[in-house]
Amino acid sequence: MTTFQQNFALGEQAQGFLSREVHHHVIDGKRVPAASGRTLSTVNPSTGEVLAQLAAGDASDVDQAVHAARRAFSGPWRAWTPYERQALLTRVAQTLDERFEELIQIEATDMGAPVSRLRTTKPALMKMLSFFAAQAATISGETLMNGIPGSVATMTLKAPVGVIGGIIPWNGPLNSQFWIIGAVLASGCTTVLKPSEDASLSVLRVAEILLEVGVPDGVVNVVTGLGKEAGHALAAHPDVDRIAFTGSTQTGRSVIEASTVNIKKLQLELGGKSADIVCADADLDKAVPGAAMGVFANSGQICFAGTRVLVQRPVVDEFTARLLEFVKTLRVGHSLDTAATLGPVISQPQLDKVLSYVDVGRTEGADLLCGGRRLEGSGYFVEPSVFAGVTNEMRIAREEIFGPVLSILPFDDVDEAIAIANDSEYGLGGAVWSQNLSTALRVVHGVHTGTMWVNCYGYIDPLVGFGGTKMSGYGSKGSAAHMDTYLYTKSVYIQL
Ligand code: NDP
Repeated sequence: MTTFQQNFALGEQAQGFLSREVHHHVIDGKRVPAASGRTLSTVNPSTGEVLAQLAAGDASDVDQAVHAARRAFSGPWRAWTPYERQALLTRVAQTLDERFEELIQIEATDMGAPVSRLRTTKPALMKMLSFFAAQAATISGETLMNGIPGSVATMTLKAPVGVIGGIIPWNGPLNSQFWIIGAVLASGCTTVLKPSEDASLSVLRVAEILLEVGVPDGVVNVVTGLGKEAGHALAAHPDVDRIAFTGSTQTGRSVIEASTVNIKKLQLELGGKSADIVCADADLDKAVPGAAMGVFANSGQICFAGTRVLVQRPVVDEFTARLLEFVKTLRVGHSLDTAATLGPVISQPQLDKVLSYVDVGRTEGADLLCGGRRLEGSGYFVEPSVFAGVTNEMRIAREEIFGPVLSILPFDDVDEAIAIANDSEYGLGGAVWSQNLSTALRVVHGVHTGTMWVNCYGYIDPLVGFGGTKMSGYGSKGSAAHMDTYLYTKSVYIQL
């Protein structure tokens, strides 16, 4: 397998943005350099070359941004009606629709996902914005009965929580930032976003576009920098009311600790080691590509990737043979190669981590059936890799690799598959492939996880939502429950 090179030229707008000397923070409607004057380099993972310089934010930049967000929260933004916030979200959607090509070119260059894949994510972004536009006009409290003697009317009101700290990982910031921005604009909150130092550019560009569209100054601020500096400062800031964090379980734990300073509300979307269960009666025409792309999409850098593929023994050989044929159809290449289906992994440390897990798998006695090597070139390309003969005790079945490594674990009956699926500290995604609905529902009920797919993998709809349990975090993304966490409930008693 070889890598393919760039065959697609960046548009003028993306090129102009990427060629800026330094990408500053966006605070209170302005581009603001780091208070310290320091910068840090961000790398194009398709080439391994430095792509841009980012402001290296620290606690003082975060403090400045949080003050801006607090001022905006208490200013005229507070008086915007639900209809005005809804119209704003609709304008944001229209503008992103028009500017999507520019944004995916920035994203592809910055974090390595192929443009071909990013183009397919547009409907999901548009749905998310429609969802939040609709939510803006449906926030409501209740009128309640009570048992208080005399005439007392009681009701609840919903009010925006305040300043939201949004900490975003590198694996898809263009879309994932809108789980926060959408809810902030719909609810009347304000936010300070801290994207990953490895993929900040689409978040910075979106912040500028939001200002052009009419989002008031200070409502959406972005501070770039290292996680342990800027990210920690945001999680620990006493004037941030709530943190929306997506990232690893380990970092999530440190965010929880930092957040205790003012008892912040938290939403945590953390790691996973999801089980994808292929029963003997599955339609393999669908299960093979579905399970494969449940792992290899985004080069395995998806939190709910179904990396443990549990296959019932009667079909293990056929499934494996067909899977290996499918893997041959994948094209790993430069993110600006329009024929690439998979891009590089995000960074040299991530590449090293993935390759070290391949060594771990081999040492533990699993059979590496394909892949396992770095591909030629200076980018961070790894071959899609398949291990067979994996047991659930092996580290490659227990630890999150976050790369294109799929493990096949055989099982005899459905109860055993459920037990293996549940023998994990994580509980984020999972799937079952079976043509028997009773079998599928038995598995759905049996697996202790936040999201289950049946005869498909990876659909996310904001109306339905998804979220994790166990060490994969808490708080759902999407559904009415998502909006509720950007609001608090006020109980009101009125003596008549
Ligand atoms: P990290 O946990 O390393 O980083 C996530 C974010 O937290 C980044 O913005 C990072 O900044 C920041 N951060 C790092 N250290 C701290 C700190 N001490 N305090 C506050 N913020 C900090 O995760 P990755 O970026 O490596 O992303 C991969 C992980 O995210 C995987 O484990 C994956 O499962 C999980 N994930 C979960 C998703 C979900 O929805 N459940 C979705 C996507 C990813 P910086 O990068 O600059 O260090």
